[in-house]
Amino acid sequence: MLDELHQEIRQCQRCELYRSRTNVVPGEGNKKTKVFFVGEAPGEQEDIQGRPFVGQAGKLLTQLLNIILLSRSDVFIGNVLKCRPPLNRDPLPSEIETCKDYLIAQIAIIKPKIICPLGNFALKTLLRKDLSISKAHGKIFRKNEILYLPMYHPAALLHQSSASLKQAMREDMRKLGRILEQFDKK
Ligand code: URA
Repeated sequence: MLDELHQEIRQCQRCELYRSRTNVVPGEGNKKTKVFFVGEAPGEQEDIQGRPFVGQAGKLLTQLLNIILLSRSDVFIGNVLKCRPPLNRDPLPSEIETCKDYLIAQIAIIKPKIICPLGNFALKTLLRKDLSISKAHGKIFRKNEILYLPMYHPAALLHQSSASLKQAMREDMRKLGRILEQFDKK
């Protein structure tokens, strides 16, 4: 099911981004996972390789996962947009609206128990537009029987390498670790 969906996503021409992309980046990971990480959109490396979070931000995400002894292959990693916006500009509302169906379809197939929106675009797309990541990170939300634990986007650390930001990201990841332990007990 997921493979078929990803095949469809790879052919997508629903918005103008198909003209400038090198590769579509549907997402990858464990199809039976309990945890789905959702970033913003592919960057340069992701566009070249057709894989999510393989650049600098991806290295940081992998390191954060390692704190709770998870590897990339334990979780599913995707994005709100499946194609790179030119020069990594912000996703347009129309692009998000068009691409959102794919993310919703991925969630319906994977059926994660918890989704971690990484940064404001994923947070606002998946939960509510009036939320902001600086206030919502590390808090648990529930929608349609799925838990949400928003986290800062790892790229935030590339722009602003503050100790408190790093600390917050580690704490949010540890919180995810504790939630996953609870799932295992059930
Ligand atoms: N940033 C994102 O939001 N997604 C990626 O896949 C890479 C960088």
